[in-house]
This record gives sequence, C-alpha cells and structure tokens, in this order.
Amino acid sequence: SRVLIGGGSGFIGTALRKLLEHRGYQVTLISRTPGKNKITWDEVKKTGLPECYAVVGMQGSNILNIFRRWTDGFKKEVWDSRVETTKTLAQAISEASNPPKVWVSFSGVGYYKPSYVYDYDEDSPGGDFDYISQLATAWEEAAKLPAENTNTREVIIRSASTGVVLGRDGGAIKQMYFSFWFGSGGVIGDGMQFFPWIHINDLTRLVMHALENEKVTGVLNGVAPETITNWDFTKEFNTVLLRPGFFPLPRPIVNFALGEERAKMLTEGQAVVPKRTLESGFTFNFPKIKMAFDNMFSYRKWF
Ligand code: NDP
Repeated sequence: SRVLIGGGSGFIGTALRKLLEHRGYQVTLISRTPGKNKITWDEVKKTGLPECYAVVGMQGSNILNIFRRWTDGFKKEVWDSRVETTKTLAQAISEASNPPKVWVSFSGVGYYKPSYVYDYDEDSPGGDFDYISQLATAWEEAAKLPAENTNTREVIIRSASTGVVLGRDGGAIKQMYFSFWFGSGGVIGDGMQFFPWIHINDLTRLVMHALENEKVTGVLNGVAPETITNWDFTKEFNTVLLRPGFFPLPRPIVNFALGEERAKMLTEGQAVVPKRTLESGFTFNFPKIKMAFDNMFSYRKWF
C-alpha cells in the first residue's frame, strides 16, 4: 500500500521513506518540484489526493537556516510552508472519495513554554506565547479534519524542535559536527536550558507506530524519555568525539546570528516528556542520550 509524505525529501523524510520501503510500502513524495515517485502541491490542489493508505505531513522551510535572516518575509515563508500546505493536505483528505486510513502531521515542542521548572506532557497547556508556539498551534489546527470525518485516524507528532533530531546525515548534528570536531563545541548560553531531543531512528519508528496501530490517535510528543540540558548534550557530544569542547557560545552571539526570537529555540528550552507516546505502547531504541551518541559516532572517535 501507498504512503504519501509531504516534505519527504528532507532529513527525516528520507529516513522514513527508507524504513517504509523496507517494510514493503510504496512511497510517493509531495514536493514543490516534480520528479520520479513525486507529486507536486499544485497537483494535490488541482486533482486531489491519489489513492493511498496513509498521509504524513512534514514539509517546512528550515527555521534554523542560518543563511536566512529572520525577516518578516522569511517568517511568512516558514509559516506558510507548514500551515498552508497542511491545509491543502487536510482538505484533500476530507474530499477524497476513498480517504486514507491514517493522517500523521508533524508539529514541534516549541508549543510548550520554555521553563527551568515544569515538565510538559501532551496535555500540558501552551501554544500561544510567541511566534514559534503560535506556529505550532496554527500547524496543528490546519491538520484537523472536519468533525464528520470518521474514516481517517488523526495523529500529531510534536517533534523535538530545537532542531535536535539526532542522526549523522542531517539535521542538527550535521550542522554542529564541525565545530565539535575541532574541539570548539561548547554549551549555548549557560547550558542550563533543557534540550529536547530524539534519535532519528526512534522518530521514524514512531511515525511507523502511528501508521500501523489503530489505537493511536491525537498528540504524541516525539521526544526521548530522558530529559537533558544543553550542558548534558554538549558533554556527551564531546565525550564521544574525545574533544575538550572549550568555547561556550554566548547568548548575545546566538541572538545576533539568528535574531532573538528565533535564537530562543536554542538559548531556551523545555522539559518535554513522551507520556502519551509511551502509553500508546511505543518503545524507544534510544531512550538515553548516551545511547544515541554511541550509536552515531562510536566508530568515529578515533579519527
Ligand atoms: P528538511 O528541511 O530536511 O526537509 C523538509 C522538506 O520540506 C524539504 O525536503 C522540502 O521538500 C520541503 N520544503 C522546504 N521548504 C519548503 C517550502 N518553503 N514550502 C514547502 N515545502 C518546503 O526538514 P526535516 O526533515 O529536518 O524536518 C521535517 C519536518 O519536521 C519539518 O517540518 C520540521 O519543522 C520538523 N522538525 C524537524 C526537526 C529536525 O531537527 N530536523 C525538529 C523538529 C521538527 P521539497 O524540496 O521536496 O519541496
């Protein structure tokens, strides 16, 4: 059976596609550009949803792209590339004559307000205190199908949104690898902020869990059970690479480079627990940060 993945050509999507194909699914990507095994957003708008078993939405212009200045124009692109595309998918699903069995849409843990004190689970409040949290709310709202929909199961995955989906070939680790390799990877700010994270292998398995288990519905936090601070993360990264990690990245510099509103995704953090995720029967292969780093780099540290 076929699974459609919006934005499936990216870091998480590529890993998910491989896992799906390994399990015998056919994968079609929804993309801005046409190509083999792809359809475009315009085609979905014009001709509706092709027959499929499931739809996964994970498209979005990379928020932490350091080559883009944090302007109103870029903020709108970041917003529309998630919210408008998700509306397109939700509408196509609700209008399909043979709708998919399940619809999984991504969101981010930026939904929860950064704090040194609280632990957030899926039922905790949030979603309305700054740009990123409002984006998460609008993104999740856009994914909602009309109330009369009873054919398609709906799942939202609030993924670790500080960019810390761990995997060697992309995402945050790839961006940070060079500074850590040269021994300069230090904490961000004072390092005491929480740093939600998940191994790419667990994130793709979580999507698969949502696709294949009929009891799974609603919001799942896509974060590992071990809550860590940026200091813990930095220590583990340097340990696995046998590096000293001398130079902290002072908050004003991150603010300057990214713009303060966006820099908060790195300089502030929230402790997020995957409560509903675990209750739904999901088991993590990499529940602890040490296991994730050992898996990513163990054979590398001698180089
Ligand atoms: P990538 O940036 O690797 O890929 C996202 C895909 O979205 C791209 O391959 C692209 O597909 C599509 N895309 C990019 N810009 C636009 C745009 N302006 N309009 C429409 N589509 C666009 O992202 P990831 O795989 O890392 O992440 C997937 C989703 O998960 C994102 O929505 C992200 O916000 C979220 N997420 C990611 C985290 C991470 O650490 N990586 C953490 C938390 C959340 P194409 O070129 O084919 O159109």
